[in-house]
Amino acid sequence: MDIAADRVVTLSYVLKNTAGEELDRSDPDRPMVYLHGHRNIVPGLERQLEGKTKGDKLDAVVPPEEGYGPKQKVKTLRIPRSQLPGDAPVHPGARLIMESQGQHFPVWVEKVQGPTVVLTPQHPLAGVELHFSVEVLDVREATEEEIAHGHVHGPGGHDHD
Ligand SMILES: [Zn+2]
Repeated sequence: MDIAADRVVTLSYVLKNTAGEELDRSDPDRPMVYLHGHRNIVPGLERQLEGKTKGDKLDAVVPPEEGYGPKQKVKTLRIPRSQLPGDAPVHPGARLIMESQGQHFPVWVEKVQGPTVVLTPQHPLAGVELHFSVEVLDVREATEEEIAHGHVHGPGGHDHD
């Protein structure tokens, strides 16, 4: 079965930057599972995966414009560490969800300065050319419910508690 919209794809990946430094890789015990065609992964990788099938390996270079966007000047937010939940990750690059006026949006820890945490709305990989090495492990049809929700259910996917 080929990768196409409304199909669920399981893949393993290694992500490097232009210098060849490893930025991320999928957990061997928990490969990445996503619903294709619903912008659940960066657009450049989603586009290059189109038509691939189980067992295919692929090296995909994704420019920032099709990745996490160009690096922009953004307003950072400085908050006391004590205002974050005790279990919140506060290392640089950690992702947190902020709530403001009933809206939830992601922010990332840029740095920690003593008791102060500097948060940025910009993804840490903004402006970075992404070099993916991907192996397609499985492709299946999505259920109607998954398509309606726009994400995967079950193992590796979203859990509705
Ligand atoms: Zn759902």
